[in-house]
Amino acid sequence: MKQLALLLATGFAFAGFADRVDVHANSFREGGWKLDVQFMDVMGSPYLIAHGLGFKVPDAVAETTLPAAGAWRVWVRTRRWVDGAGAFKVLVNGRELAPTFGRGAKAWGWEDGGTVDCAAGAVEVRLRDLDGFDGRCAGIVFCRGDEPAPVGAIAVTDRAPEVTQGFDFVVVGGGLPGCCAAVAAARRGLKVALVQDRPVPGGNASGEVRVWSAGEIRYPLVNELRGKFMNMRYENAFSDSDRVAIMEREPNLKMFLFHRAYGVEKNGDRIVAVKALDVARNRTVAFRAPLFCDTTGDGWVGFWAGAEYRYGREGRDETGEKYAPEKGDRSTLGSSIMWQSSEAGYDIPFSAPWAEPYACGLSRINGDWNWEFGLDQDILASGEEVRDRVLLAIYGAFSNAKKDPANAHRRLVTCPFVLGKRETRRLIGDHVFCEQDVTGKTQFDDAVATGSWSIDLHYTIDPKVPFLTRCEQPHFGRYWLPYRSLYSKNVPNLFMAGRCFSCTHVGLGSPRVMNTLAQLGCAVGEAAAMCAKGGYSPRELYTKGHARELQRNLGGDFPGNPDPAKRDWRYVDDETKGVELRGKWRWCWNCSGGQCGDGHHFGSPDSVAVYPLPVEKAGRYHLKGIVPHLFNRMDMPVVALTVVSGGKTTELVWNQYPESGFWREIAVLDLGPDAKLEVRRAPSSTCRGVIADGYALVPADRINGN
Ligand SMILES: Cc1cc2nc3c(=O)[nH]c(=O)nc-3n(C[C@H](O)[C@H](O)[C@H](O)COP(=O)(O)OP(=O)(O)OC[C@H]3O[C@@H](n4cnc5c(N)ncnc54)[C@H](O)[C@@H]3O)c2cc1C
Repeated sequence: MKQLALLLATGFAFAGFADRVDVHANSFREGGWKLDVQFMDVMGSPYLIAHGLGFKVPDAVAETTLPAAGAWRVWVRTRRWVDGAGAFKVLVNGRELAPTFGRGAKAWGWEDGGTVDCAAGAVEVRLRDLDGFDGRCAGIVFCRGDEPAPVGAIAVTDRAPEVTQGFDFVVVGGGLPGCCAAVAAARRGLKVALVQDRPVPGGNASGEVRVWSAGEIRYPLVNELRGKFMNMRYENAFSDSDRVAIMEREPNLKMFLFHRAYGVEKNGDRIVAVKALDVARNRTVAFRAPLFCDTTGDGWVGFWAGAEYRYGREGRDETGEKYAPEKGDRSTLGSSIMWQSSEAGYDIPFSAPWAEPYACGLSRINGDWNWEFGLDQDILASGEEVRDRVLLAIYGAFSNAKKDPANAHRRLVTCPFVLGKRETRRLIGDHVFCEQDVTGKTQFDDAVATGSWSIDLHYTIDPKVPFLTRCEQPHFGRYWLPYRSLYSKNVPNLFMAGRCFSCTHVGLGSPRVMNTLAQLGCAVGEAAAMCAKGGYSPRELYTKGHARELQRNLGGDFPGNPDPAKRDWRYVDDETKGVELRGKWRWCWNCSGGQCGDGHHFGSPDSVAVYPLPVEKAGRYHLKGIVPHLFNRMDMPVVALTVVSGGKTTELVWNQYPESGFWREIAVLDLGPDAKLEVRRAPSSTCRGVIADGYALVPADRINGN
């Protein structure tokens, strides 16, 4: 009885039976180690990683309880991820075990720690990192007597869900699309769960991965959640806490951070629950709901539910896509780690000779998106190896760079252990979005989002330097994305958004930027609310004729369904006939998103754009302007506007940065049919040039929207 009480009191340390005591990786207080759940589906459990960027991290510590005194054999689940680093020690009750761990087999397995003599009762276990280079431990087992060496991972998901939670809508995967889907549905009154495996939401846009969100914003919710300052640059502020705060304020939304989904329960074709491991509490949870959304990026929920999916590139022979390879294959876009070093102001040691051969002769202090690997690998089956190969290239290239005295003060500051993935599974819906939808600008009657990024596909530059890629970025202006690509073809209550939406490999190439994918999340959230209230399935929303209503709920213009609030708006775009672009200008496409025209123009500091204003009859008008969403790499663009009408000149100054990507009110003016607007760089601008995009006039007596 006393033993049982002790076992229960330990909480995390699960004793399967008296001769074996398991200490889960997620039962440790992490110290400086990090809990990695990215590869749980392959290697079986969360694990601790000593990701110290070359500096030893503080000990991870766990307490467990041994039911009997005597000799206990200690087994440590680990792997030798590289020769020459990643080693650690294990201490039991302060006594260091003789072996050094992480130097054994390459594959995950159990290394023998020898025996320790312990009294019955509480025992402290410590992991002591030896080098700060990603040693990893997936748990410890104490065995007694004839107990055999453990086999496989310490099971974490082998039991029926211990907790059940009921919701109207469960969103799995908390990247930007997942966050938008969850918040949009919650704001429409659904009780929503957002299940996210990392301790922060944001996916690739989080402070963990540090990709900046690009593409059209379109919906205010995307703007709210995208994070204003996210960037790989260390000095920039993070947006994780802002995003968390926004979501925590939603009364109908419950966020389950650090919950890794691992399976589904089904009834016939339908999903009835998603099962997840509550990583921090080491318990299994069932999230039940009538509607689900897969925003895991990897299509996990769909995969477990038997949804039709695709992996790899379709062949041109199948899809007719110009940018597809002739024949289909298993290649995808690769995965990356963006990294940076900075000046510490004093000498910082860094030496990783064991990694230098993996840098293929490169010596670098920073690496951008193109440190990308795994294009020809199955990223789901070998994600850990892909991540490790990029880490090795980084450590090796930085180690080479540190040999130069000019870099003596340099210290690695960002180099995430969370792999930034671009493409894995794509779930199949009623429409498979493809290259022709981008190039032909298909006018879908169920359009719910817009994109304007290029078809941005990546290729390894040189097989001898397999971790560097180049991109090809043909651009085609603005296009539409349909609702029918956002629900599964064969799992009737499953939506998807984010990079696992229904598309071909080439079709993903453009909308994969996060603001565009986040728009898909907004659409799914709205659609889920409509389905719940109307009693129809995701497919029926379309087949029963509710797509127009979905568009109205989302707001804005759609093909054949213009925004009634903008009925009286008259537009003039940088590409409209009659607009004069004086001086040097170049047309820009990628981050357009002005909701007006196809792109925008960027001019030299002394360039001037002259717009004839669309005045139908003399009167008072609201002048509105729009520029593309400007990401935080942009300096502050301010323009001087000169409006000339009826011999009168009005001078205005417009700072284009705040709320870029949306229409902004600039002034109310009395205008005649001769009205002209001149746009030039303002003296207060810190931007290297001047932006020319869209303007609109709205008669003052008919202003009914913004
Ligand atoms: C290096 C790099 C550079 C890029 N550059 C840009 C750029 O400049 N601008 C831009 O907009 N886009 C860029 N992209 C593309 C963009 O980041 C992705 O297309 C986008 O993040 C996909 O969003 P997502 O939410 O679908 O997936 P993710 O961002 O991957 O988010 C999915 C989330 O689901 C979680 N998850 C996964 N499985 C589970 C599970 N089983 N249980 C619970 N949670 C789970 C993941 O941890 C993750 O947080 C880049 C990508 C990379 C890797």
